[in-house]
Amino acid sequence: MDDRTFRNAMGKFATGVTVITTVMDGEAHGMTANAFISVSLDPKLVLISIGEKAKMLDKINTTGKFTVNILSEEQKDLSMHFAGQIKEERAIDFDWVNELPIIKNALASIVCNVHSKQIAGDHTLFIGEVTDIVTNDGAPLAFFEGKYSKVSQPISL
Ligand code: FAD
Ligand code: NAD
Repeated sequence: MDDRTFRNAMGKFATGVTVITTVMDGEAHGMTANAFISVSLDPKLVLISIGEKAKMLDKINTTGKFTVNILSEEQKDLSMHFAGQIKEERAIDFDWVNELPIIKNALASIVCNVHSKQIAGDHTLFIGEVTDIVTNDGAPLAFFEGKYSKVSQPISL
């Protein structure tokens, strides 16, 4: 099967958009990711999937810490920035929780210690144990068929 067929099919699964953040040697690093799931309530665990070519991979392997920042519909520019889709350099003013950078005004910032990891093909799956959460009101940024969109009104019963 060719890659495009796989990606087109995966793109049918509408997701939110997150920016994963961590800090190494005092330097914050962020990366856009939509491979994120809630895993367990007791203990509180989440999962992210990081590609083998991403700079983020070594950083999380080294620090053992990351934050998942769920973006609002007003933060498409941040998603594009942290996916390397905007060429201009941009200084980002992070907030900090327990010495980890978080994205200002994200709908939720979920601070984690790495609980376990599994290499899966060309990605590494990191399960994170949640240590802190910060939330803000707002509507989510969505990603569907390779495009950003807003979530429409709930379907009434
Ligand atoms: P880089 O490519 O070097 O960094 C990403 C960008 O963030 C660069 O522009 C960099 O300048 C900027 N940046 C980083 N830190 C800072 C800072 N402190 N201050 C200012 N700017 C900073 N890849 C996956 O592996 N898993 C996924 O689940 C995933 N989901 C994606 C979902 C979407 C919607 C998109 C668009 C992309 C997704 N990607 C995913 C691809 C991933 O976002 C890119 O490959 C990304 O460029 C990898 O980042 P990197 O760690 O290699 O760092
Ligand atoms: P796209 O059509 O490539 O993405 C559609 C869907 O395919 C994504 O939501 C994801 O589920 C899947 N996908 C895409 N690339 C993948 C990869 N390398 N590994 C596993 N699953 C992948 O959308 P696009 O707008 O062309 O994406 C922009 C860029 O971001 C591309 O370079 C893409 O590879 C990358 N991306 C990577 C991942 C990931 O690594 N998990 C996820 C989304 C986007």
